[in-house]
Amino acid sequence: MAKYTMSAIKADLSAVMGKEAILNGNIPEAYTHDEALELDPIDPLGVVFPTSDEQVADLVDYASHSNIALVARGSGTGLSGGARPVTDGLVVSFEHMNRILSIDTIDQTARVEPGVTLAQLEEALAGTPYFYPVYPGEMSATLGGNVATNAGGMRAMKYGVTRHNVLGLAFVTGSGIRARSGGAYVKTSSGYDLTQLLIGSEGTLALVTEVLVRLSLRAHTRTLILASFRNFEDLANAVVSIPERGLLPSILEYVEATGLAAMAQHAGVSLGVSANVAATTSAYLMIELEAMSDEDLSWQLNEVMGLLNVHHSTEQYLLDEGQRQGLINAREAAFWTVKALGATIILDTVVPRSQLATLFAGAASCAREHDTLLVGTGHVGDGNVHLSLFASDPVECHAAATAIVHLATSIGGAVSGEHGIGVAKRQLFLEQEPPPRLGLLHSIKSVFDPDNLLNPGKLL
Ligand SMILES: Cc1cc2nc3c(=O)[nH]c(=O)nc-3n(C[C@H](O)[C@H](O)[C@H](O)COP(=O)(O)OP(=O)(O)OC[C@H]3O[C@@H](n4cnc5c(N)ncnc54)[C@H](O)[C@@H]3O)c2cc1C
Repeated sequence: MAKYTMSAIKADLSAVMGKEAILNGNIPEAYTHDEALELDPIDPLGVVFPTSDEQVADLVDYASHSNIALVARGSGTGLSGGARPVTDGLVVSFEHMNRILSIDTIDQTARVEPGVTLAQLEEALAGTPYFYPVYPGEMSATLGGNVATNAGGMRAMKYGVTRHNVLGLAFVTGSGIRARSGGAYVKTSSGYDLTQLLIGSEGTLALVTEVLVRLSLRAHTRTLILASFRNFEDLANAVVSIPERGLLPSILEYVEATGLAAMAQHAGVSLGVSANVAATTSAYLMIELEAMSDEDLSWQLNEVMGLLNVHHSTEQYLLDEGQRQGLINAREAAFWTVKALGATIILDTVVPRSQLATLFAGAASCAREHDTLLVGTGHVGDGNVHLSLFASDPVECHAAATAIVHLATSIGGAVSGEHGIGVAKRQLFLEQEPPPRLGLLHSIKSVFDPDNLLNPGKLL
């Protein structure tokens, strides 16, 4: 990359973006990092704020001629360093491209600019029977960031992750091609699927300028069960049994007992768990069931309660509405709790559900071997666990994390279930990718972004 100073490129950029659209000099600290715990901040050359896809295309053209890297940024809530700047590049913040372009209740879609946040979309849909079901814990995250990371979250077991809920995109590739993919239809067999290719590409292939999402109908009724387990094996068996019986909870999460206590305290919510149950519990399941009718809900509830008993759940609490929302909020905020408590690394490995018991036991022994404290929570219904690692020695902590990821991939899993690779997991990802597949990924990158302008040093 060329070594430009911001003052040298400012005049050129003003012509492309307009003066107000550029920040240089005192770049606010927020733009120097995302929320990945283990990465230091980096000062970029500057931050630009495009307001239209034409401007994005002009920016890519300018960056290409000047050989300046572009790092896309939504809200910077990513947990893998994907939006972390590079020293000789510009941060492209999409926060000014934040318009909801249309909501179509007939085709059940919403068309939004990439800087629209999940909270904004939820608010816009509030008066309708529809909602956007992808629910990563942080509602300030943008749709563009969700697309680039293929964000998942708590409702993926029933509703799928971002890639199951995005029908089309508008984008500008690193080579300057401005294009659209997909449309307001729910199926297509019309050639290579560029929408799906770009979802999860972490801003390394194209800058996304518009997102077309599908909407779902809201359920009429719901309930949340908190179920305690003495050991992880019983908990894992209970998880597997639920979809095996044909049930699809809208939330199926696990929280280790220490984690639940900290989260509930942090969020100021009382769950009514008795002291003797808390004392003998290793972990809890949070199971939210929802339905269009009371009859369906009570049928699901009976089935799940039966399965929890079969798998030795020691106690089940049916939460009232205040507790239900309090616990979901506390779970959403789990990251802030473990960050405040000093976690060094958070892993988000994913394994087949059938391998959860092996992962729980193996991860605990990897942590013990490396003198690292491990506290787990996560989307266990998807086989996706969030393991927070705490250690005074970062080298030991890293060794524990590496061993856990190797274990997960050796039992049929993958490095990241939803947070993406970015910088934080790049080394682990590259080690695990078989050379033929890695070769294909590099070939795709070179077609979309031949000069490696977009998010260099991330993912690949
Ligand atoms: C408290 C908390 C809880 C979370 N819980 C979850 C969870 O349950 N599930 C989950 O999946 N994630 C979760 N996350 C992670 C995070 O919210 C998601 O990764 C989210 O998708 C990031 O969105 P963002 O707008 O903040 O993107 P950023 O962090 O700004 O960027 C993420 C990536 O997207 C790229 N990007 C951003 N915008 C564009 C664009 N327009 N075009 C191309 N590339 C772009 C960036 O370059 C980067 O690689 C959580 C984070 C926090 C802080």
